[in-house]
Amino acid sequence: MGAAGDGRSGRIDLHTHSEVSDGTDTPEQLVALAAKAGLTTVALTDHDTFDGVAEAVAAGKAHRIEVLGGVEISTELNGISVHLLGYGADPGDSDLAAQLEDLRRSRTDRVPQMLQALAELGMPIDPAVLQAEIGESPSVGRPHIADAMIVQGYVKSRGEAFDGYLAVGGPAFVPRRHAELARAIDLIHQAGGVAVIAHPWSRQSWQVLDEPALARLASENHLDGIEVDHHDHAPETRAALRGIAQRTGLLATGSSDYHGAGKVDHDLGSNTTPPQVLAELLARIRG
Ligand code: AMP
Ligand code: FE
Ligand code: FE
Ligand code: ZN
Repeated sequence: MGAAGDGRSGRIDLHTHSEVSDGTDTPEQLVALAAKAGLTTVALTDHDTFDGVAEAVAAGKAHRIEVLGGVEISTELNGISVHLLGYGADPGDSDLAAQLEDLRRSRTDRVPQMLQALAELGMPIDPAVLQAEIGESPSVGRPHIADAMIVQGYVKSRGEAFDGYLAVGGPAFVPRRHAELARAIDLIHQAGGVAVIAHPWSRQSWQVLDEPALARLASENHLDGIEVDHHDHAPETRAALRGIAQRTGLLATGSSDYHGAGKVDHDLGSNTTPPQVLAELLARIRG
């Protein structure tokens, strides 16, 4: 498969979340909505789990839309959180699966401490309410706690819960384990996939992902790409990142980071990836 000129066309969204992590649609619903929105390819990239991928792929066949299996891995570089997207990796790869399981365990393990902090702040959470928000998700996140806070009337939105209590440094924040970024890139490659850093200049990760760092990740760790077109990046940020991608040989993707009702201004297809970039990613995935 070549780059430009291979005849691919379409609207491509490579970063979305279902209720298998902190989105609000089932994988099937998400794929149906993606087809309805006119997308030709959608990647499901739940946090630290592949559990929704099989359902999404099956739904893709029914709704005639290409579904790319993926994951968004919680990693860190120099102690700073970096989100890494992995596409086309084998969910059955034992090393990758073990890493993801460890990340999910750490997500679950910190919940009692966060609930304790909220209780001390005068916001006790009913365990049944929280469990209803988590549902069957194997990957518990702060958004589930935020949703429980909304149900109990403590805040009006996930944004308010993060800004007041749950964000890094907030009074109810408790850290959890992350995978080392370089190791996570290796794990994705060993499992046959390609690795793209999500929203590199959002929230915290901008601190550790300047051009020399990204150049090193490209040349030494064979990072495949960076997500340039993302809601968290202003126009000048996108232009700067596009320049870095060109100079370092990284692919530049774009995606919505859709979370269903869990995040406003992240509609499916609100940012997209050029067809020739998808073609190059697919060419690098070991089938
Ligand atoms: P966690 O997975 O527990 O580390 O929580 C991080 C997740 O919370 C991110 O992946 C986002 O989906 C979500 N998130 C972070 N900040 C906000 C915010 N201000 N409003 C809504 N969701 C947020
Ligand atoms: Fe999320
Ligand atoms: Fe992310
Ligand atoms: Zn995401």
